[in-house]
Amino acid sequence: MDGKTTRRRVITLAGAVGAIAAVRPGSMRQVAQAGEGPKAPLEAFKDGKYVLPSLPYAYDALAPHYDAATLTLHHTKHHAGYVNGLNATLDKLAEARRSGDFAAIKALSRDLAFHGSGHVLHTLFWHSMKPGGSQVPDSLAQALEADFGSIQAAQAQFATATLAVEASGWGILAWEPLSGKLVILQAERHQDLTIWGVVPLLVCDVWEHAYYLQYRNGRAAWVEAFMKLADWGFAATRLAEAKR
Ligand code: MN
Repeated sequence: MDGKTTRRRVITLAGAVGAIAAVRPGSMRQVAQAGEGPKAPLEAFKDGKYVLPSLPYAYDALAPHYDAATLTLHHTKHHAGYVNGLNATLDKLAEARRSGDFAAIKALSRDLAFHGSGHVLHTLFWHSMKPGGSQVPDSLAQALEADFGSIQAAQAQFATATLAVEASGWGILAWEPLSGKLVILQAERHQDLTIWGVVPLLVCDVWEHAYYLQYRNGRAAWVEAFMKLADWGFAATRLAEAKR
């Protein structure tokens, strides 16, 4: 990555995009052709279970910017906790489907998002840093210039957005597929009912505006109606495209 770059030195941006791209097989192929892929696969899922990936560097490799004690605790305790919680939640969801008892579905869905997003984001976080940092590869530099005006403007927006996250959360450079453009987001906490990186296949709107005129406050009737209208063929097409 370093040899072919001429751009201004940054710490995290290039790694973040590389790691995000690597969770999408299609993007990974493009990145690999450009010679800018991460050096190791993310290895966050193995033999049917989510697993704690090993770091792409030694625990003391980011010091003094990020010391070994902090990194070790963060990886072996906090990230590992998300992995264990995610697998446990999936076991409980499987049991709920077996028994038909969905009484705890709200808590289980929240746990799935909390632990799932924690695992995804921490896996990307380790790859978003590298000993000594790195420069911005030309391909990313072009995207940053096109979508943010300049590399410096993108870096300033990333740093200030991250600094300004209220309470706990993340700063995230991401690719928005509808527009094909880069965006910089704040995630407050991270578990607000999604797992970052998922590809939505079938969605049902239960904001009141979606059904109130016809169903008033009858969300159950609306959901029942939606299930009669659901286009699983669209979901199948989205799934095939996502896996490509
Ligand atoms: Mn963390």
